[in-house]
Amino acid sequence: QLSERLKRVAAYVPPNAILADIGSDHAYLPCYLALKGNIQKGIAGEVVKGPYESARKQVQQEGLSKSIEVRLANGLAAVELTDNVTAVTIAGMGGPLIASILDEGKEKLAGVERLILQPNVHAKAIREWGAANGWKITEEEILKENDKIYEILVLEPSSSPVSYTEQELLMGPFLIKAKSPVFIEKWDRETSQWKRILLSMESTEQTVEILAKKQELINKIQLTEEVLHGEN
Ligand code: SAM
Repeated sequence: QLSERLKRVAAYVPPNAILADIGSDHAYLPCYLALKGNIQKGIAGEVVKGPYESARKQVQQEGLSKSIEVRLANGLAAVELTDNVTAVTIAGMGGPLIASILDEGKEKLAGVERLILQPNVHAKAIREWGAANGWKITEEEILKENDKIYEILVLEPSSSPVSYTEQELLMGPFLIKAKSPVFIEKWDRETSQWKRILLSMESTEQTVEILAKKQELINKIQLTEEVLHGEN
């Protein structure tokens, strides 16, 4: 039984895609899509031996060895241009790691039509990478499962320059518009934590670093509260 989180990631993979799932672990996501007949072909990339073996076992057990290839490689090194990959999924890692995988493997994204990314934290790093590299966000989703809150970002190549405001980078342009209850819960949690950190900083020596860190937190709280309590 696939997690709700991965089911929602799967929902954004275009029908008939040639999919590369990077950091696939047990290859649950490509297996689920292949069993439903939703993808033409899948590549499951893993950099760690244990998860790579789990992925191979899973693909074999499901009888999917013809449609899913499991490859031991770092990031997008799992992909060759001759694979003609059309969609890439990267899920269950931090935003900065996802962004660095995309950045290091940029040339492998030449024919890719869609990236479906699910950062556990710091989605901002992905939005910044997208804006700097000509990928625009076309959809965003936020969901809660087992008390954890996850974001899903869908990116497609853009022919015009991509830019976002500070608020959009932090919280997501589509998520800000939708302002769902889970979104509000996430940012309520974050701002409460920032406020606790701020408070704890009062009792330490006010060095230049501490003052700078405090200012950064104050700015983030302000940006976030504007969205949560503002008119937009
Ligand atoms: N994608 C699955 C999911 O969302 O449930 C698995 C997530 S698991 C927490 C992260 C996986 O990414 C691990 O199996 C790890 O070995 C793999 N990973 C981390 N960095 C990677 C990289 N640079 N290239 C390929 N795989 C990577």
